[in-house]
Amino acid sequence: MAPSYDQMLQFVLLAFVCGLTIGKSMTRLFAGTQFDLPPTCDLCGQVESECGCSAAQKQALADQQSQEQQEQERLAMRKPPGKQTARVRFEKRKGNRRVTVIAGLTHQANDLPALLATLQSACGAGGTVKSDPDLVELQGDQVFAVTKKLKEIGYKVK
Ligand SMILES: [Zn+2]
Repeated sequence: MAPSYDQMLQFVLLAFVCGLTIGKSMTRLFAGTQFDLPPTCDLCGQVESECGCSAAQKQALADQQSQEQQEQERLAMRKPPGKQTARVRFEKRKGNRRVTVIAGLTHQANDLPALLATLQSACGAGGTVKSDPDLVELQGDQVFAVTKKLKEIGYKVK
């Protein structure tokens, strides 16, 4: 006996519902795992087997990502000004050069170039940032203005 139209319709419907159910449970099974989606290239977005990016391009991206990670780690090392003590002193150097030296603030804990810019505009003087040891220097006797500004920012000053 040939199946009736109704029986065929029921079968198709059943197959459809089964397919849907299996499809859903498969999706759930792989959700959040590495099988959820095939790995794709971060540069072109293609599946890795389809990716035509060069090794140099991929290296450049990896370098950029590691730089960003280093930047994140650097920012994590920053300390709030209130937890740091700056030591401000005035020095006379050869050639009658006078400088105001700020010690005790490290590159690791501070954005020293940004701090220098702030102090330069507060003092109306030029300056420089040094490393090893980490120092901020301003031209001339700026002890008063520097101390005032550092305290304003929140640093403890000795
Ligand atoms: Zn690619």
